[in-house]
Amino acid sequence: MLKLKIGWILLTYTKNKMEYTYKETVPSKVKETKYNLSPCLKCGSENIKLSEYDDKYGYISTALCLGCKKELRTNTTLPCLIEKWNKQNNIDTVIQTTQELIESSKQKIKDLKMLKKKRLKEQVDGKEKRNRTL
Ligand SMILES: [Zn+2]
Repeated sequence: MLKLKIGWILLTYTKNKMEYTYKETVPSKVKETKYNLSPCLKCGSENIKLSEYDDKYGYISTALCLGCKKELRTNTTLPCLIEKWNKQNNIDTVIQTTQELIESSKQKIKDLKMLKKKRLKEQVDGKEKRNRTL
């Protein structure tokens, strides 16, 4: 178990489970939320270094894969970064979002084909109308 203290944040890192505990210690109140971190999609490494900075320009959070050096950087807090990392690295999520992209692309192609048909028909109808008036 690795503990990192970054400003107000105490990050507890348990390696085998890839589970991160994000502890926000604000005066007189401790909020604890558990997050699971997906292994790196590119190389499969579970060795992901997380960091969060909060300076005058706002938050800068990074997840760095120590296996292949793939990095994700956001201008958000660590929980938002973890959510984004998981969306991009969880195989099931990536399959699902890719599947959704395929479905929406299929629908878009269908709609465009219908529009093309409609436009062609409008052109033909327009020509016929013009021919009749001549
Ligand atoms: Zn990697």
